Amino acid sequence: MKKIYLDYAATTPVDDRVIKVMLPYIKEVFGNPSSLHGHGQKADAALDNARRGIADNLGAKPSEIIFTSCGSESDNLALRGIALARKEKYGFNQIVISPIEHPAVEATAEQLEKYYGFKVDFLPVNNHGEVEYEQVDSVLSDQTALVSIMGANNEIGTLNNLNRVSAICRQYQIPLHTDAVQSAAHYPPDVDQVGIDLLSLGAHKFYGPKGVGVLYLRSGTELIPSMTGGSQEFGLRAATQNIPLIVGMAEAYQLVHEEGLERQKHTSNLRDQIIKQVLDTISGSQLTGAKPENRLPNHASFVFEGVDGNLLIQVLDSEGFACSSGSACKTGDPKPSKVLTHLGYPPALALGSLRVTVGKSTTSDEVSQFLDVLPECVERVRQAA
Ligand SMILES: *Cc1c(COP(=O)(O)O)cnc(C)c1O
Repeated sequence: MKKIYLDYAATTPVDDRVIKVMLPYIKEVFGNPSSLHGHGQKADAALDNARRGIADNLGAKPSEIIFTSCGSESDNLALRGIALARKEKYGFNQIVISPIEHPAVEATAEQLEKYYGFKVDFLPVNNHGEVEYEQVDSVLSDQTALVSIMGANNEIGTLNNLNRVSAICRQYQIPLHTDAVQSAAHYPPDVDQVGIDLLSLGAHKFYGPKGVGVLYLRSGTELIPSMTGGSQEFGLRAATQNIPLIVGMAEAYQLVHEEGLERQKHTSNLRDQIIKQVLDTISGSQLTGAKPENRLPNHASFVFEGVDGNLLIQVLDSEGFACSSGSACKTGDPKPSKVLTHLGYPPALALGSLRVTVGKSTTSDEVSQFLDVLPECVERVRQAA
């Protein structure tokens, strides 16, 4: 049976063009970029080139790009690195995040609170998961070490208007970090235009390889490294760089720039078809997160009354469709999504969640096949309850 993949927010397949540029760096060009001989210099040239490519595509300088092992590591490095640096330097002890951040941000903030004497405060979000911009001012204080707000939520697809947050952070000279792991895969930002000081990317969300990420760090922003050792990555992240993955990430991000608009158009048509037909044909269904104009172009998320979401995922899988109940990190966890419960969904309804995310090679025929079987699958799961 043909398997149809509709879980692009969890991860994406690596683009063939990306694999092609990676291969020489897996085989022939194996040098350590820190070595002074020719092997090393070749690797170092590839590293420089990738760094420049990512920097250009972010409107940043190459010296502001730190390669990491994933989006989670970038989030960890940003929060821990800024919080500890600004506590050391100024004694600041407040961290401000939204209540529906990815666990890589949330759990890092919680750890800083539990062991390092910080206090975490939350910027309220509305019932679509968008930050209440008018309230930013009242949550910040003269003790704020940093603010971290995601560009787009992975579970419900809602976009935040970071310009509105950054304007206020700028006013108080508080560094703003954004987890752009989902949003930049669709809307690659210019860090100056948005006014961001730190930004996390993860390659596998945009057809790059797993195990590589970037932290953009605005020059002049103090940061204490987490990984100590050699002086790689401007002394901010020790470890011999993984050149094939870094080269692959740069190529994949270049393709986001070149093909972004086309991908947005293609995926948003499919997404709109999914949202409309699900709400029209399945009783007791609700869209979670924002309206289409304010959500990721490839993202549809729902709750269904009287449905066990995990069972629905299994039934859909047996029919050949790969979807998610929200976050890949929560697989096998029978607790309702924290994001949905925070937005006010009762636990029983939050347990009936479904996330359908399409990609650049998803076809309209695949979406139609999915929409043909979904109502019957929902019904089957309801009967089983
Ligand atoms: C996937 C994801 C991450 C984690 O990225 P990894 O590269 O998988 O570690 C962080 N934040 C968001 C919003 C994500 O979607």
